Amino acid sequence: MPLGQVELALRVIAGLFVIVAPTLLFLGLWRGLEAMRDDELIEQVTQRAETMDRSGAGRDRPVDVLTDGSASPLSETDLSIVTCGACGTPNMQDASYCQECLTELE
Ligand SMILES: [Zn+2]
Repeated sequence: MPLGQVELALRVIAGLFVIVAPTLLFLGLWRGLEAMRDDELIEQVTQRAETMDRSGAGRDRPVDVLTDGSASPLSETDLSIVTCGACGTPNMQDASYCQECLTELE
């Protein structure tokens, strides 16, 4: 067999390997991902998450600052409001004069 034919055969084999190997690797990766998706642990975690969603619906929800008065940041501003002695208008505590009747606040 001449040297040129051997080299040509090697090149054809290398070309086939380059074409086929990525396909096989991809199919192997795909099968592996499917096997991991159908794993028993994944099913257990999914079932546990579903049962937790059903049983504890809304229990671990973050506090709603708009409806819960104690958690509202506006409740803190209520403490810093001073009522005008003359007209009863609420004013900011650091205000010197009433915003309604301009009476000097304490
Ligand atoms: Zn006033």
